[in-house]
Amino acid sequence: IILGGVHWLSSFHPLVICGPSGCGKSTLLKILMKEYKNYFGFTVSHTTRKPRPGEVDGKDYHFVTRHEMQQAIEKGEFIEHVEYSKNLYGTSKNAIKAVQEKGLVCILDIEVEGVKNIKKTDLNPRYIFIKPPSMEALKERLQKRGTETDESINERICRAKKELEYGEMPGNFDIIVLNDCLEDAYRELKNYLWKCGVLGSNL
Ligand code: 5GP
Repeated sequence: IILGGVHWLSSFHPLVICGPSGCGKSTLLKILMKEYKNYFGFTVSHTTRKPRPGEVDGKDYHFVTRHEMQQAIEKGEFIEHVEYSKNLYGTSKNAIKAVQEKGLVCILDIEVEGVKNIKKTDLNPRYIFIKPPSMEALKERLQKRGTETDESINERICRAKKELEYGEMPGNFDIIVLNDCLEDAYRELKNYLWKCGVLGSNL
């Protein structure tokens, strides 16, 4: 596969996981990647936001300044990028290549505008939407997480409404996983990955 001169190596479709901030997608991904270490590789995005306690540079994100990120965007290093809650986020072509070079299936954890941009490329991933049980539950989770200011929580909730609208529109995602109970959501996610042959493919 070629995108702007980049050859995508993997014959396996990447997975794009999307869902409003606080829907539990990072938790689901962490469990999945722990259980299937040899299958999946996390595509490490760049962001200009500050690291949260416990986040590791180069593992959770590449934490960069706005200037650094803007320069890299201008050089065409990103397959997609967005402005989200006053910060830049983006997936670099190198982040995808780094995972594919290890023979692993890429997992991209991105928001809706990024999904729309990825759809314009030839990456051809499978699209998974993680849906929170309600807006109230989402707000509660963001507050409990304790990593966001009130302003950031309000922005995320505001954005979540639009994200849910897009996520639930038929045809935008290959599967919608309701994350009310983590165990059920994880089972549903795994069932889907088995069904479409991502798991059990003897990578
Ligand atoms: P957070 O600040 O909570 O880590 O991420 C905020 C939102 O940005 C989440 O919905 C997350 O999925 C999304 N995000 C993280 N990295 C990227 C990226 O590289 N591109 C896009 N479009 N969204 C991203």
